[in-house]
Amino acid sequence: MPDLSKPALVWFRNDLRLSDNPALMAASASGRPLIAVYVLDDENAGAWAMGGASLWWLHHTLASLAQNLEAIGGSLILKRGKADEMIPALADETGAAAVYWNRAYEPWAIARDTQIKAALTQASIEARSFNGSLIVEPWEIATKQGKPYKVFTPFWKSLKASHRPADPIAAPAELSFAAPPTSDRLDDWALLPTRPDWAGGLRQMWSPGEAGAQTRLTTFIAEGLSDYDTGRDKPAVRGTSFLSPHLHFGEISPRQVWHAIEASPQGQGEDADSYLSEIAWREFSYNLLYHFPSFPEDNFQPRFDHFDWTGTDADFAAWTRGLTGYPIVDAGMRQLYETGWMHNRVRMIVASFLVKDLFIHWRRGEDWFWDTLVDADLASNAAGWQWVAGSGADAAPYFRIFNPVSQGEKFDPDGDYVRKWIPELAKLPRRVIHAPWTADRATLAQAGVTLGLDYPKPIVDHAEARQKALAAFAKIKDAA
Ligand SMILES: Cc1cc2nc3c(=O)[nH]c(=O)nc-3n(C[C@H](O)[C@H](O)[C@H](O)COP(=O)(O)OP(=O)(O)OC[C@H]3O[C@@H](n4cnc5c(N)ncnc54)[C@H](O)[C@@H]3O)c2cc1C
Repeated sequence: MPDLSKPALVWFRNDLRLSDNPALMAASASGRPLIAVYVLDDENAGAWAMGGASLWWLHHTLASLAQNLEAIGGSLILKRGKADEMIPALADETGAAAVYWNRAYEPWAIARDTQIKAALTQASIEARSFNGSLIVEPWEIATKQGKPYKVFTPFWKSLKASHRPADPIAAPAELSFAAPPTSDRLDDWALLPTRPDWAGGLRQMWSPGEAGAQTRLTTFIAEGLSDYDTGRDKPAVRGTSFLSPHLHFGEISPRQVWHAIEASPQGQGEDADSYLSEIAWREFSYNLLYHFPSFPEDNFQPRFDHFDWTGTDADFAAWTRGLTGYPIVDAGMRQLYETGWMHNRVRMIVASFLVKDLFIHWRRGEDWFWDTLVDADLASNAAGWQWVAGSGADAAPYFRIFNPVSQGEKFDPDGDYVRKWIPELAKLPRRVIHAPWTADRATLAQAGVTLGLDYPKPIVDHAEARQKALAAFAKIKDAA
């Protein structure tokens, strides 16, 4: 008979929730008293350690998870350092007989977790991992030839036809916990910005944690889903679900989202299908990351290695600060800095502008997003950047160069989005709001705008940049 008094560790990672958490359920089913632990492992993450906005989110979501565990008689043990040292040491210290976790798919996490599993098994400690973050794990889905999907549409068709997610599991009503070992204090990790405290906009917009995630989902189903197909492309309206950081940190699972959408009154319509296809883009991004682990660093199409990146640091700085002179680009960059999030349509516009108008490598944009997004996600961020750059797997062709003026006019026709994020342009009339340099003097004066003083003149001429980009691409088109 196994000695059931020995505890089981539940190692929380990007699955910071109690409901639909397979590792937690397995630990509970083991009949052992539990110890819940989170390890902040910057060292193994290396260059992909969390950026500033993610750390802000992490602080609040850990506080929320700790509270939820306390409400059922437990606690959350916090450790900071290399998980391959911390987890075996904690198992040893507490006499744990088992360690359970939900899988992660970042290459550095896979390497680390494989090593931990081997070390625990060697020490006769049961080590089991589960799928808590994806609808379909990358090794469960393949083309007819048994190869990884590189194109989204057939991936999505296969997911829908053959990988319907199982029903989510409810949060355990009762758990028994072992005496807690020592824990770090969350405040001592100093994850929140203080000098300066730039997180005011984040606090206003977000409620990290499981309850906040559920509220977002319910609100979206009630208010956004029925018009998602058109609403999702309008940055001035709340047309999307804002679930990305909640999904990234695993405060809600894609299975829970999927089933809630399907069970809703609009669950069988086109808007729901379109929404679920976006959830599938997240799955597809993980599929690419798993099968092509250098995807966040290297061009998927090697011919882009020969591209001539001539952009300057000054242009990069103007882009990050929302001072390029193109209102839709600047509005997006300011929304990002202020709230840790940017609308998907605008992410595409600002990314295209960086790569194809300023000739700056997508890796620099990816890094900036990594530091400033609350939903910074290795798989989705890399996939987004490579898609826009044209260097990715199922990417937009390079010659598809977003025109920042016509994109603005099409997707923000009244200029409300620009007015919200660039108050200095708020009084400009609709017809020039996306191209203030085309306004005559009287119009600018009436709106109180002096170009070059209150708001910059465009730092590049888009038409010229476009020609230059096409010529530069022509040079690498046939490279291997
Ligand atoms: C250059 C670039 C970088 C990006 N970086 C990230 C990132 O770091 N993290 C991230 O989560 N998303 C990223 N995206 C994808 C997308 O912009 C966001 O997921 C979306 O804007 C989040 O808002 P939402 O939750 O309201 O989306 P909704 O429209 O409500 O979509 C629902 C969910 O589907 C998933 N999703 C939607 N679109 C995509 C997509 N194109 N690729 C992958 N998943 C998607 C997200 O999990 C999202 O929460 C990036 C896109 C681009 C173009």
